[in-house]
Amino acid sequence: YMQDTSIPLAKYGGRHTVTMMPGDGIGPEMMGYVKDVFRVAGAPIDFEMAALNPANDSYEDLVNAISSVKRNGCGMKGNIETKMNRPDIKSRNVEMRNELDLFVNVLKCKSQAGIKTRHDNLDVVLIRQNTEGEYAMLEHESVPGVIESLKIITEESTERLCRFAFDYAKANGRKKVTLIHKANIMKLTDGLFLEVCNRVAQDYPEIEHNDMIIDNTCMQLVSNPWQFDVMILTNLYGTIVSNLICGLIGGPGILSGSNYGPRYAVFEPGTRNTGTKLAGTNTANPCAMLNASVDLLEHLHLDEHAQLIRSAINKTINEDKVQTVDLGGQATSMDVVQNIIAHIKKGL
Ligand code: ADP
Ligand code: MG
Repeated sequence: YMQDTSIPLAKYGGRHTVTMMPGDGIGPEMMGYVKDVFRVAGAPIDFEMAALNPANDSYEDLVNAISSVKRNGCGMKGNIETKMNRPDIKSRNVEMRNELDLFVNVLKCKSQAGIKTRHDNLDVVLIRQNTEGEYAMLEHESVPGVIESLKIITEESTERLCRFAFDYAKANGRKKVTLIHKANIMKLTDGLFLEVCNRVAQDYPEIEHNDMIIDNTCMQLVSNPWQFDVMILTNLYGTIVSNLICGLIGGPGILSGSNYGPRYAVFEPGTRNTGTKLAGTNTANPCAMLNASVDLLEHLHLDEHAQLIRSAINKTINEDKVQTVDLGGQATSMDVVQNIIAHIKKGL
């Protein structure tokens, strides 16, 4: 269920071609920093740009972006705003994940030594269902004043999600997997989610396994977050809990998230914010997108480049404490990027 790396990705003369979808808000600025950093680090990546015009509801841009990812095998993405608040206009972020079958979102939540937070030393990995559940976008008004929304849970997609999570735990020396659900109320949908997970867990006797109700999970996360190791969540619980944990660790500017399917992978900031109000102010934290770019390099097995950039980011935040306002610092986005670039040059 992991990305099948035997499928050839676009690679010519030792260079990879990767789709870059800047998205809206701060996305284009952040992507500019990724290009600057890759240039200095000598990362052998050529970006194929796929801009999605927020005012365009023809879906032509979306179709082009999706075929670009299919051609290249992987992409980087900023958040795409759905400007038109009409029920027939669907989120293009969701459409893209569905079309590429990016069924799992992985968020590695690890505390940074140099960021002051209420809880230190957190190290949790979220495995979120990324294509169905509450995000099926199947809503309708059955009679005036009555709206229905369908939550779709399939056995097939839940099974590959759970296998992904247990395989991930095994491959990364993790000890425990916790399934998050609300099966006491949603007996059929979350009931199936829980049942499949319990079944899959039996194939992994070396990994401890338990389950927890979503509301209790939120309470536990703020009072004793250290009890969690790997968590499996449905789509909606996943986005809520990922924002909660990102908040515990230092906000939306730090963590990156990876989306995987059987064939393709897309890398982006963990909380998928647009950051509209920050656009053009030179104040947004560039580290979330830069960490996403390192995830991309790791995915392409460009480990030396990945390590060079990752360590430059970590030194900048944790040792030099060159931090943007979201982390309590005074640095601009460009100060942070310049500091990262200086470390990369030293490490070359
Ligand atoms: P908006 O809807 O105004 O664009 P978002 O919902 O995108 O805001 O983001 C949620 C919050 O996270 C906002 O307060 C935004 O300023 C903040 N935020 C998002 N991305 C970043 C970032 N890279 N650096 C600092 N703050 C950020
Ligand atoms: Mg927003």
